[in-house]
Amino acid sequence: MHDFKELEADNSSPAANDEDSDILQQSKTISTSSVLATVRKYRQKYPDSVLLVRVGDFYELYFEQADDIGGVLLGLQVVDKKFRNGTVRFTGFPARSLLRYVEILVSQHSLSVALCEQFQEPMQRSFTRKVTRVITPGTLIDESLANTRVHSYILCVMRAENNTLEVQGQQQTGASAEVRKHKNRQQAEALATVEARRRWEQGIAEAMAAEEPPKRRGRPRKKLAAGKLIMKPPRAPRFDPTTVEALDLAEIEDGNTLVDEADPVEVAELVESPDTEAESEIQLSLAWLDLATGDFMVSTGPASELAADLARIRPREILIDGNDSQVQELVSAANPQVATTALGAVAELEATEEAADAQPPANANVHWPMAAAAQQAEALRLVAAAELRSGERLACEAVVGYVRATQGLLAPLQAPQQYTATGHMRMGAATIQALELVRPLGRSGSEAGPTLLGEIDRTRTSAGARLLAQRLLAPSACAEEIERRLDLVDFFADSRARTRTAALLDGVGDVERAVAKLSLNCGGPHDLLLIAQSLRAVAQIRATLRSLSRDGKPGGASGSAPGSEQPAVAVRRMALALQALPRLAREIDAAIRSDAARDVRACGFLNAESSTEVAQLHAALEEKEAARGALQQQWRQEYSCASLRLDGAALGALVEVTRKDATRLRAEADGGFRLVQMLRTRARFEHTSWTHLLAETDLLRTRLRAEELRAFEQLRDAVLAAAPALRTNSRVLAAIDVAAACATVAAERRLVRPRLAPPAAAHVIANGRHPVVEAQLLHDGRQFVANHCRFGAARRLLLVTGPNMGGKSTFLRQVALVSVLAQAGCFVPAAAARLHVVDAIYARIGARDDVARGQSTFMVEMAETADILRHATAQSLVILDEVGRGTATADGVAIAYATLRHLHDTVRCKALFATHYHELLPHVRRLPALAPLHTAVHRSSDGAFAFLHRIVPGVCAASHALYVAQLAGIPKPVLAVARAFAAANSCKPA
Ligand code: ADP
Ligand code: MG
Repeated sequence: MHDFKELEADNSSPAANDEDSDILQQSKTISTSSVLATVRKYRQKYPDSVLLVRVGDFYELYFEQADDIGGVLLGLQVVDKKFRNGTVRFTGFPARSLLRYVEILVSQHSLSVALCEQFQEPMQRSFTRKVTRVITPGTLIDESLANTRVHSYILCVMRAENNTLEVQGQQQTGASAEVRKHKNRQQAEALATVEARRRWEQGIAEAMAAEEPPKRRGRPRKKLAAGKLIMKPPRAPRFDPTTVEALDLAEIEDGNTLVDEADPVEVAELVESPDTEAESEIQLSLAWLDLATGDFMVSTGPASELAADLARIRPREILIDGNDSQVQELVSAANPQVATTALGAVAELEATEEAADAQPPANANVHWPMAAAAQQAEALRLVAAAELRSGERLACEAVVGYVRATQGLLAPLQAPQQYTATGHMRMGAATIQALELVRPLGRSGSEAGPTLLGEIDRTRTSAGARLLAQRLLAPSACAEEIERRLDLVDFFADSRARTRTAALLDGVGDVERAVAKLSLNCGGPHDLLLIAQSLRAVAQIRATLRSLSRDGKPGGASGSAPGSEQPAVAVRRMALALQALPRLAREIDAAIRSDAARDVRACGFLNAESSTEVAQLHAALEEKEAARGALQQQWRQEYSCASLRLDGAALGALVEVTRKDATRLRAEADGGFRLVQMLRTRARFEHTSWTHLLAETDLLRTRLRAEELRAFEQLRDAVLAAAPALRTNSRVLAAIDVAAACATVAAERRLVRPRLAPPAAAHVIANGRHPVVEAQLLHDGRQFVANHCRFGAARRLLLVTGPNMGGKSTFLRQVALVSVLAQAGCFVPAAAARLHVVDAIYARIGARDDVARGQSTFMVEMAETADILRHATAQSLVILDEVGRGTATADGVAIAYATLRHLHDTVRCKALFATHYHELLPHVRRLPALAPLHTAVHRSSDGAFAFLHRIVPGVCAASHALYVAQLAGIPKPVLAVARAFAAANSCKPA
């Protein structure tokens, strides 16, 4: 029963704002005596997590987490709460705001949250509390929180061989053995982590205190553009779609091979740095799972590839063996920014089965216990059935075990798929970053800013967006696959096909995620509706695609490549793979109200007519509601007591009146009213009639709720049974979405279908453009100057010189981006393109500091260059921008020269090399496969100077640095001194 003394004692707590006074009000009405014991127990069990305890309609934080987390990170008012033995710090927020606060903790601060829910024993007023779910960055799948347009992976990294953890006997699964092994170590680890977290939090607090207003990115480009000195660049060669076919790619020749004396410099030792890549390099096995979609992948590769893997996979959370310090170091060196979790550091949830009879409050974030053990067994069976290396198996089992430990449940997984490096274009972390495929350069970690993905993404569905990002990060290296993708885009070149499909795709929800949520028991009626609605859209898309592919002429303007399947045939085949499951859709629509809430525990989502049982219960409940109204009315009249109110919410059946009216009820001693509580303004009574009526109503509600849950679970099981078909649908629709989106952007941005060139033919881009820079210029009302690029047997190495700001970097990147786009299966920004399939792109762009890794600019530059020189093959495309710039000129030139020679003589790949070291030119002119190019500038006799951004053959013998300095606004006297100095020291300025 309620301890009113304890509640009275709380009255002295300060109430600083509305929300707090709500909390305090709330805490008065709930017995809190057991809360502190629960808090202590779970803080010990989850020392690394933020513990949120559900008390009534609030989630509360206690002790130092109230201040450090609630106060500092969440901005909540923290107060002292009185208990019999003293006060503790505490704060909290309304339960309905849970997702918002979890988002802050998990997404923004990469913390994990242990959710402690309250369960009410049937027909009793007391609560038990239990942690039902630990939300970590990788297991956050509630769609209102997670960015659903990108995959959210949990990744486990393990040694491929010689694992420090030996797999224990067959009866123990790897994962659970794993968790157990770590349990005794937990305490020590936990202490260390708590200390680290404490220091970290202190850091956050200090950082927040000293927070500067976010700096705007410097935009010298804009300033220059505004300057009067710049002449308008000449019009770009206009692209006329009708002339595409007429354009003879073979004629494009943007440079000549100059003949000169070779420079006999010995370069071998410069590029042959000591070979650290002995056979002893550790091999790492990776397993990564998107809990929200069930995508599950594995791969194994050398540790040196880890950074590239992480850049491509972009995990939200990395699991590592807490014992393997070497792997730990490798992971933190490869990507220090992602949250890592030591396996076993998160304790397993208690068996939730025993809580099954107890009822969680409405909108509790509880996973209803389902056959979790059976699910895990099934997941491990899938893992066992797949052909995996031992490290991959361990990594898979660790992921499965971790999800089970934190969520109590598992989504239906797919068997882990092998990611094959050879089928994909290789791009390292530095390349992905330098090309700004998905994340802009500059502000590390920031997602805001122009990127290739942002520029071309026109997908309508989340699954499509995820697929497009995935393709850009790992373009195909298989010509047939590329042609297949391009064929599909071609199909949607027909604008009628495009618009009709796009409109229908808008009706498709994130079905993969809905299925995952349902199987993790955090899905609700809303997810069922989404599936039904999506199935209806699928039916329409299927019909539409079939009719389009039947009557539409195959292909758009550019037609399909010889030998490839006709686009219409491919589309019809995809349409046939779609399954509309009309019965399932009908069943859901018949049962679930279209205005159903998201939460399965919010009663009343079932159509009253869905069964006679439900209809009867609804009718009976209405009767009881009427009886309550009648009783209240009767008593009001009988006792002339207008303030009388029948209350049945939190504290049981109470009759509430104002204090003034209380005397009337009291006077009627034989009326059956018993005073239970006298408050400052109100009085509360009990009366058996009302108690009985409420009990009957509660019973009906419980029955209705059980009935609704039963119906819900039946539909959920039907959905889960159809999961394979739903997943196929999602896959097909994502591919269609991406193809239609690529066709849309192709039409908007004048992109063309690239042709794939045989190795003997040249790799040619006619009037190529940088899609992102072009869009930015367009936005500023300026025009991008298109440029040709051609690689051939005798022109593998293009050396681009020219002044700063002339457009070298832009040109280099655009050539790389054209290949990325083409091999991802998109059309490319050019008038025409015939391209080799490249096995890898290596980009080393500009000197920049990588402070996060504690390495100097030059060290980073050399490390990246070394990676390129070691790994590039003749089929690779290499982009080197200002290599050697990070050091003194003489050394810089030497390194640049050696690098060039190695690429030219040994690697023999396609390479673009930009440099403002024109000192280099005399030494390399004679190289037979090298062609010099430069950026054109315009200088008029009156001293005006402008960048033309045109790439022309030949060399640029001067850096024009003083002109650039002049453009940038260096004062005239300073410039005069610089000119005089240059003249005096015979370093002829341009
Ligand atoms: P560099 O590497 O030679 O210093 P960048 O490639 O960084 O030069 O280009 C500098 C700026 O010039 C770009 O930010 C862009 O605004 C402009 N620019 C570059 N290439 C072009 C082009 N082809 N057409 C129009 N403007 C360009
Ligand atoms: Mg540059």
